[in-house]
Amino acid sequence: MITLALSKGRIFDETAPLLARAGITPLESPETSRKLIIGTSHPGVRIVVVRASDVPTYVQYGAAELGVAGKDVLMEHGGGGLYQPLDLGIAKCRLCVAVPAGFDYASAVRRGARLRVATKYVATAREHFASKGVHVDVIKLYGSMELAPLAGLADAIVDLVSSGGTLRANNLLEVEEIASISSRLIVNQAALKLKREEVMPVIDRLEAAVQR
Ligand code: ATP
Ligand code: MG
Repeated sequence: MITLALSKGRIFDETAPLLARAGITPLESPETSRKLIIGTSHPGVRIVVVRASDVPTYVQYGAAELGVAGKDVLMEHGGGGLYQPLDLGIAKCRLCVAVPAGFDYASAVRRGARLRVATKYVATAREHFASKGVHVDVIKLYGSMELAPLAGLADAIVDLVSSGGTLRANNLLEVEEIASISSRLIVNQAALKLKREEVMPVIDRLEAAVQR
């Protein structure tokens, strides 16, 4: 038996059609079921439903051989113990720096000002600003990053943007793209060696499903 870690919502919804094309149909939807372990039409594959940011942890420790995680989550996690063999091309967006429309970010950076940055991507944000030589105090938040500059908690945010609608609605402007994001298949490195006959066919079928 191999276990695939998925988060509900967007990742589950966009992974399900790929799984179906790979011959792996979940027997229940995590949106309607309260079950956290879901069987599939494939007798050798089950799904565990976890928080998006917990997916790399389950796979890193081998509690799941496979998982689907956004590149944002993988950057923040660090990717230790994981192979990332396949870009699934789903849940596409970008990780950006955004500021209130009235804030002159470029000049603050030029002046060498110290910026307060609110984000749930603490490690990624630190690394981004360090690589630009910008001094920051990073404030960890778990949600609604857009509120932070409006409420006076931070000068800037680092957050995911897709259409830009939420930023616009809150009078924020995107000033830098840190990374373009999509979801990746991740694989426990030890499982790829020790359970190769079970794991490889699933990777191959998903790869074919992505290319179709
Ligand atoms: P939770 O809602 O449990 O706090 P989460 O916000 O990380 O977790 P989702 O909103 O489902 O969960 O996001 C999961 C993944 O989907 C993200 O890590 C990212 O890769 C991708 N994603 C998030 N927002 C968008 C978006 N607006 N457009 C496209 N992809 C997105
Ligand atoms: Mg969310």
